[in-house]
Amino acid sequence: LVGMIAIVGRPNVGKSTLFNRLVGQRRAIVGDEPGITRDRLYGYSEWAGKRLRVVDTGGIVPDDEALIPAEIFRQAKVALEEADVIVMVVDARTELASPDIDLARLLQRTGKPLILAVNKIDDPKLESYVEDFRRLGIRTMVPISAEHSTGVAELLEEILERI
Ligand code: GDP
Ligand code: MG
Repeated sequence: LVGMIAIVGRPNVGKSTLFNRLVGQRRAIVGDEPGITRDRLYGYSEWAGKRLRVVDTGGIVPDDEALIPAEIFRQAKVALEEADVIVMVVDARTELASPDIDLARLLQRTGKPLILAVNKIDDPKLESYVEDFRRLGIRTMVPISAEHSTGVAELLEEILERI
């Protein structure tokens, strides 16, 4: 076991889909309902002979803390404290909004290695969408499609470089 990664982001960006890709089994519930992850969920990912612990957190939206059950928020914080690398997920198909900026800032304050996975790039033609997210100030950005499993290998390489 080389370390632990936490997957964080607003509801519905594809955290659980990515978790399932990394862990290789349908452990987390994926759905159209925001906040469908009721708990942090742990799994293991194997890549290049290395074993990573992966945690799928519920949605953390700093502006809307009151809307998130306190227990989910608390567990997400615990996951962040335990993580060696944090993967923030955004949805390439939605406009960058202030909760994303607040979340990125909160994550940067942890001082931990941070990678931005720009998800739902189902077609390479959409890769230009990634640039819109540069404003978050996260240097390492990886276009992925958790659904199609593209970019996930590149994401794992970036993670392992930082562990
Ligand atoms: P979470 O709330 O962040 O855990 O998001 P989920 O993993 O539950 O996904 C939310 C929705 O986005 C579901 O309908 C997924 O099927 C969809 N989704 C996840 N990844 C992708 C992707 O790469 N491309 C597309 N088009 N949809 C995706
Ligand atoms: Mg989820």
